[in-house]
Amino acid sequence: MGRKMSAEIFKRAVKVIPGGVNSPVRALKAVGGKPIFIKRARGSKIYDVDGGMYIDYIGSWGPMILGHANPEVTSALKKAVENGTSYGAPTLLEVLLAEDVLEAFPSMDMVRFVNSGTEATMSAIRLARAYTGRDRIIKFEGCYHGHADSLLVKAGSGAATFGVPDSPGVPADIAKNTYTAVYNDLGSIKRILEKDPEGVACVIVEGVAGNMGVVKPKAGFLEGLRALTSQYKAILIMDEVMSGFRLCYGGAQKIYNITPDMTCLGKIIGGGLPVGAFGGRREIMEMLSPSGPVYQAGTLSGNPLAMTAGIITLKELKKKGVYERLTTLTDTLCMGISEIAKRRGIDCQVAVAGSMFTVFFNASPVKNYGDAKRSDLERFSAYFRMMTKNGIFIPPSQFEAVFVSLAHTKADMEKTLDAVDRSFKGLRG
Ligand SMILES: *Cc1c(COP(=O)(O)O)cnc(C)c1O
Repeated sequence: MGRKMSAEIFKRAVKVIPGGVNSPVRALKAVGGKPIFIKRARGSKIYDVDGGMYIDYIGSWGPMILGHANPEVTSALKKAVENGTSYGAPTLLEVLLAEDVLEAFPSMDMVRFVNSGTEATMSAIRLARAYTGRDRIIKFEGCYHGHADSLLVKAGSGAATFGVPDSPGVPADIAKNTYTAVYNDLGSIKRILEKDPEGVACVIVEGVAGNMGVVKPKAGFLEGLRALTSQYKAILIMDEVMSGFRLCYGGAQKIYNITPDMTCLGKIIGGGLPVGAFGGRREIMEMLSPSGPVYQAGTLSGNPLAMTAGIITLKELKKKGVYERLTTLTDTLCMGISEIAKRRGIDCQVAVAGSMFTVFFNASPVKNYGDAKRSDLERFSAYFRMMTKNGIFIPPSQFEAVFVSLAHTKADMEKTLDAVDRSFKGLRG
């Protein structure tokens, strides 16, 4: 296909950047592709260096809920940049964004800003360990919480409950402090807690799973987690880096009425600039340096440009009817896809939560990572290729969420469904 310029840049990129990209998924390896180099983006559209235009459903992997180059965000950033880009000293902007975040997340009494979701979860876990005086943590298979050592862990084989490294370079000694449970399976959590009743510092869970593709918590799952963690005096950390401000003005915890001890945020609260945040109950957060002994710091944390983008993004999201509009757009798209699948005889599950969804090429509903892995990945790759060919940019992996933004129009939806129809027609052959 005519991506000559992308191919040329990629040739240079692989010489100076491992794999040619600064985050692996961008290499499009999972779908057997080559990276598409981007020149610019505006609204719902993204433009590559080869002259191609796509309707973008990646949205920088979640942050761009207002669409690209939103005029309000852009003009606020232009003004902010004139005042200098980093001070290494506190600003009012940090207080303003903190107040907005706490108002939207009543479970949090205090919050600290960092520069990525990875930093947020890593720091939250350190704090949970310090607060409880325990070392072990529990995560769920298929949930992603960034790339900190203790979270790049998978379940050990057989009867072993201890985790093993999920990447070379993660020490086995660190991995063995991470247990892995099965999403939507309370029994799997209960067994670990019963076996190690006084060793677990925290359970970390995605509010709505988005990193195995969209998988919603089934009725009672989050409630059960809350009850079990309370019973065993472990901290419940809800990682809402993706789900925060994506499903509603707040998080999955608002929708499912769960009060976690700690929450992690990122993506949308940075409005497209690098931001993460972690927060929670006051007595936990006040253990953080300098009010307490737990060390955590950041040269660029609370950066004035990032705070500005976050403040304006939340201001836009707070406007009346915003989430109704997003949900209506997403539901229209998802219903359209389901109809086309039925008509074209394609076995798939359209899993939707707010303005994120995943089309699983799977004959049965997906409730956990094991189910997700049983999807037809070859079919997904073919679908991805046909969608890009038809001008639609979707995540290049079956295990990712598609993001709808406020900049997507009815015309975009029609064009997208038309592309889905053509792709599904091609898949049948
Ligand atoms: C994206 C994501 C992270 C990691 O955030 P980065 O900013 O990429 O480090 C952590 N948790 C969840 C749920 C995410 O979706």
